[in-house]
Amino acid sequence: MAVTDGILVTPEGVRPGTLGLREGRIAAITDPGATLEAAETWSASGMHVLPGAIDIHCHIRSPAYPERGTVASETAACAAGGITTVFEMPITDPCCNSPDRVAMRRDHFAQTAVVDFAMYAAPAELTHEAFEALAESGVVGLKIFTIPAPPGREHEFEGLAWPKAPDQLRALRLAQRVGLPVVVHAEHPEILARSEEQTAPLDPAEAATHEAARPAIAEALAVAQILTLNAEAQAKVHIAHVTSSATLAVLRAFAGSSDFTAETCPQYLRHTSDDVARVGVFGKVNPPIRTAEDREALWSALSDGTLGHVTTDHTSFSFEEKSAHAGNFLTAPPGHPGTELLLPTLLSGVADGRLTLPQVAELTSGAAARRFRLPDRGTLGEGARAHLAVVDLDGETRPTADNLQTAARDLARLAHGQTYRGRVAATFVAGRPVWDGSAVDAPPGWGRFVRPGRRHSRESGS
Ligand SMILES: [Zn+2]
Repeated sequence: MAVTDGILVTPEGVRPGTLGLREGRIAAITDPGATLEAAETWSASGMHVLPGAIDIHCHIRSPAYPERGTVASETAACAAGGITTVFEMPITDPCCNSPDRVAMRRDHFAQTAVVDFAMYAAPAELTHEAFEALAESGVVGLKIFTIPAPPGREHEFEGLAWPKAPDQLRALRLAQRVGLPVVVHAEHPEILARSEEQTAPLDPAEAATHEAARPAIAEALAVAQILTLNAEAQAKVHIAHVTSSATLAVLRAFAGSSDFTAETCPQYLRHTSDDVARVGVFGKVNPPIRTAEDREALWSALSDGTLGHVTTDHTSFSFEEKSAHAGNFLTAPPGHPGTELLLPTLLSGVADGRLTLPQVAELTSGAAARRFRLPDRGTLGEGARAHLAVVDLDGETRPTADNLQTAARDLARLAHGQTYRGRVAATFVAGRPVWDGSAVDAPPGWGRFVRPGRRHSRESGS
């Protein structure tokens, strides 16, 4: 197949061109107008072609909780958002914390996924043997929390929650030895506990109560602790969902002390606590969405490189689960759908002059491919996977409870009624168009399990 006459966007730059796709890979790149023999052509005229996004932070949870969505529904939502490779987090029932469970989930996802997928695991035991076994199982990285498991969800967090600094240090040292990146949900447990005590008399129906219970200082202090420990351990650390200017100051202060990266998510770039107050518990995410000043600081941090990744932290619950806690921010389950909002949020940033298209390619795929050793992704070079996100900058995205692909379409209340500049016009996975701007069409199981490249060899092409 030839994808003709688009404007090709990579982290390195922008050029017009035609892509020849063969056997799931990019086989040729030619100038526009040049003939490329192909059985089929797909015109990208007037559109921009980016490497398919790699979402390194997503919660599908399947096979548990089918009422919250399935691998089929949530990977379709990835395809609709231009995401061609998704990294699944281990929080589920049972928690994905052993090679057997990684294999079980891998085989389960492989049956119906329509985009490629990788798995994180929780380090159930802080031993070299356990870490080595997880590395051998093909996981793309490990996830840890610096806070205890939420009450009632201990089984989903078995091996994930390491609130004590000595345990965090040990986990980082072990991860360094086996070469696995560690993604950290960083909030300080004692600050959270005290803040929760102090907010107990406040009205739980108010968004401000949730914000006060999980203040920015808890995030900033936990990040400072992890990066202090990592200056000693020298693991590859990745800080999940940064929300505040206080944390950005910490990231800048620690620059160069160890190999760390950090992300933020569409909900923090698009919204403020006022929007959470408007939509109620549907806008509850952890850590919370904060102020307009924080939001501006996050955009600047994407631009100056303090934050190197934008991920979705896509989370679906059932409508019943969220609405049962409609008047209580403290008990409502946290999370918001995001796979279909990632590129529209960033393309809106391009329209507003906050980012360039090559920066969007870097933030959504190029940086992830390098960080997690997937050298044939995040680029449009010859030999790369033919994973493409075709975007129409003149179009708009208007998410509704009817047109989203995620099973949690009714929960995406922050996005309902919003107009985003730009839209994902098509998505290609392994050379096949799987999204045409309005529907997903791919055989179940078209997506494949992705393991990172060899741990000790040189990375090629990145
Ligand atoms: Zn998450």
